[in-house]
Amino acid sequence: MRIYDLIELKKKSMPLSKEQIYFFINGVTSGEIPDYQISAFLMAVVLKDMNDEETYNLTMAMLKSGKVSSKGNINGITVDKHSTGGVSDSTTLIIVPIVCSLGLKFAKLSGRGLGFTGGTLDKLESFKGFNVNLTDEQFTFNVNKIGAAIAGQTEQTVPADKKLYAIRDVTATVDSIPLIASSIMSKKLSSFADIILLDVKYGSGGFMKNKEDAVKLALSMVNIGNMAGRKTAAFVTSMEQPLGNFIGCDLEVENAIDILRGNVDNDLAEVSLSLSAKIISLAENISFDDAMQKCRDVLKSGVALNKLKEIVTSQGGSTEMFNNYKIKTKVKTIVSSKSGYITKIDSEKLGNANVMLGGGRIKKDDVIDHTVGLELLKRLGDKITENEPLIKIYYNNIGIIEAENLVNTAFTIEKNKLEIPKLLAAYIDNSGVNWR
Ligand code: URA
Repeated sequence: MRIYDLIELKKKSMPLSKEQIYFFINGVTSGEIPDYQISAFLMAVVLKDMNDEETYNLTMAMLKSGKVSSKGNINGITVDKHSTGGVSDSTTLIIVPIVCSLGLKFAKLSGRGLGFTGGTLDKLESFKGFNVNLTDEQFTFNVNKIGAAIAGQTEQTVPADKKLYAIRDVTATVDSIPLIASSIMSKKLSSFADIILLDVKYGSGGFMKNKEDAVKLALSMVNIGNMAGRKTAAFVTSMEQPLGNFIGCDLEVENAIDILRGNVDNDLAEVSLSLSAKIISLAENISFDDAMQKCRDVLKSGVALNKLKEIVTSQGGSTEMFNNYKIKTKVKTIVSSKSGYITKIDSEKLGNANVMLGGGRIKKDDVIDHTVGLELLKRLGDKITENEPLIKIYYNNIGIIEAENLVNTAFTIEKNKLEIPKLLAAYIDNSGVNWR
């Protein structure tokens, strides 16, 4: 078999066999296929697509390029969730303790923020000392003992994806549904969750800019998960505005703690509760409404809040953030330049404003400032009058001018109110798409 012939076949829109796909991935992992042929193959996939069977084979070949953890001696149902990423998306900090308080085991692999989107591992490091680099043994031990572990991927997690992603990033070959779906799902399947719930974001602050593409991606990932024998489902949710009212690590963690205290009822709380309830209903085969009631009960009783404290402590983190959090930065309030209704919010600009303040990363190894960020005082559909406060910027020594410029062009204010996009746009499982 020659890689040249596989590129030629894909260029002509021919489906590739399992053997051909494994040949490609094995050659990527071993280094036998040079980067220029990998790039040509990837571009052919971007342009000519892959069918479900090819995408599944690609995922499984990638998965087998690395270490696949086994459930070992863990009793009970293990679950995982994955968000395709967005701005002010701190659902993991809320969902893991809620679901875990209800007796399920949460084995959560998370990532760091890059570009305008935030990452769970960075937010967890707002708890000083929190160790995100768990060995396989520590990870499994915590899932068994506490009911949850949240950690980063290791060097052995899907090495084929590391190589492919680095090439895709610089060859304009990221935006392909089979390539994105196989990249995400190979990493999800490398852990041992029995149930996987995906949260595919669409909109100005998401990876997929429109709902239809997000649904296609969700369908592909749900199909891969179920073919691999894991119960997999997905929500497609709106990222047409930041999910919570805060952007920035410490601020988002503090907001998540407030939601767990039962003090806040915002979009972040709604998505977190809906995803938690769906995981419970899939695991226990109960109705979504009954599952939702259970989730609300563990919020109300404070059990979920204590569970987060337990998870933080078990991974070496300080619980100082649970006491009285004090703002450590300077604060600037930006007011509206006109009166009207907020009809559009460019979440990407707001995410980038946080990056400018030092709160996000431009390069992979940049060190971030956890204390800076933004607070939205108004959201889509809200009425605002000229000079009324719109957003607060929490800043230290860098980026305030750049952040202000971004914030000033991020909001569209018009005379007439527009319909606000549904937060939960669709639910997808192996029976198909359920529009909401
Ligand atoms: N996230 C991933 O892990 N892979 C992709 O291809 C895109 C987003």
